[in-house]
Amino acid sequence: MAFITHSLAFLSLDGTPVELQIDIAQGLPGMTIIGMGNKAVQEAIQRVRSALKHADLPLPPKKYIINLAPSDLPKDGAHYDLAIAVGLMVAMGAVTQQQVARMLFFGELSLNGGIKIGKHPLFALEAATQQHFTTVFGPDDERIDPFLGDDVSYIGVTHLRDLFRHLKHIAPIEVRARQELEPYQKPDMLGDVIGQEQAKRALVIAITGGHHTLMIGPPGVGKSLLASATASLMPPLDTSEAKISVKLHALAHLPEPSYRQAPFRAPHHRITPTGLIGSAKGVPGEVSLAHGGILFLDEFSEFRRDSLEALRQPLQDHVVHIGSGKNTVTLPARSMVIAATNPCPCGMYGDTISTCRCPEWVLRRYQQRLSGPLLDRFDIIIRLQREQFDKKVCIKAVFNKQHNDLLKNISMIIKRYDSHLKRSVINNASQHMLNTIAASQNLNMRAKASIIHVATTIALLEQQTEVQPSHIAEASQLRFTSWHG
Ligand SMILES: [Zn+2]
Repeated sequence: MAFITHSLAFLSLDGTPVELQIDIAQGLPGMTIIGMGNKAVQEAIQRVRSALKHADLPLPPKKYIINLAPSDLPKDGAHYDLAIAVGLMVAMGAVTQQQVARMLFFGELSLNGGIKIGKHPLFALEAATQQHFTTVFGPDDERIDPFLGDDVSYIGVTHLRDLFRHLKHIAPIEVRARQELEPYQKPDMLGDVIGQEQAKRALVIAITGGHHTLMIGPPGVGKSLLASATASLMPPLDTSEAKISVKLHALAHLPEPSYRQAPFRAPHHRITPTGLIGSAKGVPGEVSLAHGGILFLDEFSEFRRDSLEALRQPLQDHVVHIGSGKNTVTLPARSMVIAATNPCPCGMYGDTISTCRCPEWVLRRYQQRLSGPLLDRFDIIIRLQREQFDKKVCIKAVFNKQHNDLLKNISMIIKRYDSHLKRSVINNASQHMLNTIAASQNLNMRAKASIIHVATTIALLEQQTEVQPSHIAEASQLRFTSWHG
């Protein structure tokens, strides 16, 4: 007769339930683990045996076979230790099968029986909720507290001996209680950036509507500063977005961001397509890690061509499909891209102060790299110029007044812009203006749709229900179409 405990595999965003079947067979004493466990799983044999001894539950010398089902699912990680140890407690009659039937166990044991804090317990909590388990036993990890709900209890365990005493009702461990945390919000930095008024306005519009934005301008004009300042305006993630963000970071083996912090990812331009999009093994790439926040691509024209190609689909669909066939993994990738680039290799093309030194053919090749279908994914493309310093101080005060007015509603707007975009109302005058602009600039359907989206966001920022001609005019100016000046 096999004894059963439950754990989970972390292969995708949703933890997959794993059933551990433990059997005592005839033969020489020993322990065998089967069911596609990797090295970390195999090494559980030594950890569990030693931990049980330190919990005053030495394992009788018998032949134990442990099967991790389903057997065609690869198992990775040391977090199966706890479920194996509890399964062996059942097998040796220390606790009953019934006692552990609706419980999910995960945690890595140390040789002395301690339970280590490792991967975020959120996967286990969510898997337990979906599978209608009553209780999760895992490390005593406070990171789970803001995510706790009413459906499943989480019991944090520091030592295997304590778990045994809890199961035997000798010394019950308290269930961890939900803890409200203040979401992380950066102070607003965009209002502190001096100058670049048009760019700041464009970025406020971009962030409100979630529009991918490309900034073109000479070196030193403040493109990176503007991008990180824009990130400071991102409102905190809601709880379900925060859960996704935590799990994506855990899958990428990265520390999770502060509670509900909107991510800001800025990968280097030499990043590979895999690094950007994710690997077939389900490790998220930068476009997913930025989910709910900003993906900043500085030196955009220097990115590898294959990386940029790989970015096209997720920028449009807000999800990324990695791998192929049965093993395709789909991960969320709702990030807003802010890209920045010089207008030419020397950086001075179209500059009002210096002159570009690039030969004609170099310029052409550079600008061709920045054209075509990828550029179509950007709703907003703006040109930044260097500015004289003395004008800026008074402009800053004017901007801050407008900026603060806009900010009052920004987080509310961001949360509902999707439904609003679907309902945008364009009056006849606006439609006429759009048609005229489209005809004169020879715009394709996608470019026209872009202008409507941006104009809708502008209307929303100005708390108007109808898109006015002035909104169409501003939106069309936010699509840089000429390389000249
Ligand atoms: Zn140049």
